[in-house]
This record gives sequence, structure tokens and C-alpha cells, in this order.
Amino acid sequence: MTSLRPLALLCLLAPPCVCRANAQGASLKPEAAVPGAVLVASFRLADGRKPVEIRASFRGNRPVFQPARQEYVALVPVPASAPAGKTPFYFKVRFGSGGDYSEVLYATVLARAFPEQHLKMPASKTGLMNSELLRKERELLYAAFEKCSPTRQWTGAFALPISGRESSPWGRKRYVNGKWWGQHQGVDIAAGTGTPVASDAAGTVVLAQRLEMRGNTVVVDHGRGLFSAYNHLSWIDVAVGQSVKQGQGLGAVGATGFVTGAHLHWEARIGRTPVDPMLLVQQPLPLP
Ligand SMILES: [Zn+2]
Repeated sequence: MTSLRPLALLCLLAPPCVCRANAQGASLKPEAAVPGAVLVASFRLADGRKPVEIRASFRGNRPVFQPARQEYVALVPVPASAPAGKTPFYFKVRFGSGGDYSEVLYATVLARAFPEQHLKMPASKTGLMNSELLRKERELLYAAFEKCSPTRQWTGAFALPISGRESSPWGRKRYVNGKWWGQHQGVDIAAGTGTPVASDAAGTVVLAQRLEMRGNTVVVDHGRGLFSAYNHLSWIDVAVGQSVKQGQGLGAVGATGFVTGAHLHWEARIGRTPVDPMLLVQQPLPLP
């Protein structure tokens, strides 16, 4: 007769539903990140079980887990508003047959100071910013950002879409005529009209059209909920549905839309949440 080892005995004494056994190796990387960064959450299911629902939450966002070979992976944006400190990431995996699994992981949000910018603008121009037209424009973009395609189309670090001077950083706090206007959701790069703009990473074009405020705009879906957007283009060289490689031309720098001069406004987003595209250039995401 074989004797039970102490560990096996502990398992026998545990309650009938040992939920933790359903998932393994849950992690949230990196352990510390500034606002604007993207964290990667992942876990494996131990026995090939299929979840019916995975819910996750981080600083008011609802990151989306998607299957990737043996693992489930979610890109988790650290929003501009995230205060510094130890921050919980909650997730719950629900199986139709019971044995649900939930876990709390932590990341440390590092302090990040955002510079301020005070602008003066004629009232006739600021009026345009609040119009019904602009609300519709935002909804059009949100509809594109919410279609989270499951396949990762890019590898490695992002590349700058143009070479040029960064004229306005991500997260800059902006005041117009003394009133709070909001934080800069992208990075501005100064360059002359006609300078070719290249895709920062491989993906599929999901929006390519003229918008009132953002001017000629291209949105590229990189998969897993990660998007990049290019605004104020003088012209667009791609069409919706087209696959693009990293470095492939999308259009050219311009001054279309609500701008004072030619520049590229370049964004990266996880779903609706803006993240800092410069951080994606500096380092590839720690994907499993
Ligand atoms: Zn901008």
C-alpha cells in the first residue's frame, strides 16, 4: 500500500471546489509602470476548460482577455489619471459548470508629472469643439476602437511614424482661455506638409476618412485591442480593410481639421483608453 504524502493529504482535506487549480501562472507585467503604459495580464487554464466569461477590472477599465495558444492574455492600459501606488487588477473566470476562478494581481503605478500648456483661442473656435458634430466624431472613433480583433498582428516594438521633433507630449494638461480643456491624448510630431506618415506597427486599417476636428484620419487595428491613429493628414493613401506592415505609408502630414499648423497627432489606444505611443516605441510589450 502506498502512503499519502503530506501535500496530497492537504489536498484531500481542502474543500471540494479547489478553484485555484483551474488556472495557473497568472501574472501582470511589468510590476511597475507609469500612466500611459500598457500592462500585460495572462493566465493558463489547467485542464483545457473553456470559460464562458472572463471579467477584468483595472482603474475603472475593463480589459478584455483573449485566448493565445495555451494562455489567455489581456492588454491593460494604465490611464493618465491613475494615481501613484500599488493598484489592484481584478479578474474572474466563469465556467458554466461551476468552479469559477478569481484573482487579484497588483501593479505599482509610478508617479508621472505632466507638463501644462495654456492656449488662447477665439470663442468662435472653442464653440466648434462642443458641437453635436464632434460628439458624433468621437462616437465614430469609439466604435472603431471597441472592435477588439483577437489576433495579434504586430511583433516587437512600435516604430515612429515620422522622424521629427516631438512638439507636444502625451498627457500634457491643456487649458484654453484659462479653462481646463483635458489631457493630450496623443503625441504631436512637428513636420512639414507632405512628409510621408508610416504605420507604427503591422495591422489592418479600420478607419480612413476626413473628420471635422481631427482632419484626415487613419486608424490601424493591431489586434488584441491595441490601435494607433494618425490625424490631420493632408491626404490618405490606404483604405478600410487593407493590411499594413510596420513602416508602410498611410498618408502624409498635413494641417486638416482643428489645428494651427502642420503636424502629426499620433495616438495609441487600448480600446477607448489612450496610452502613450512613445512607450510602445521604447520597449516591446512583455507578451507571453
Ligand atoms: Zn495632438
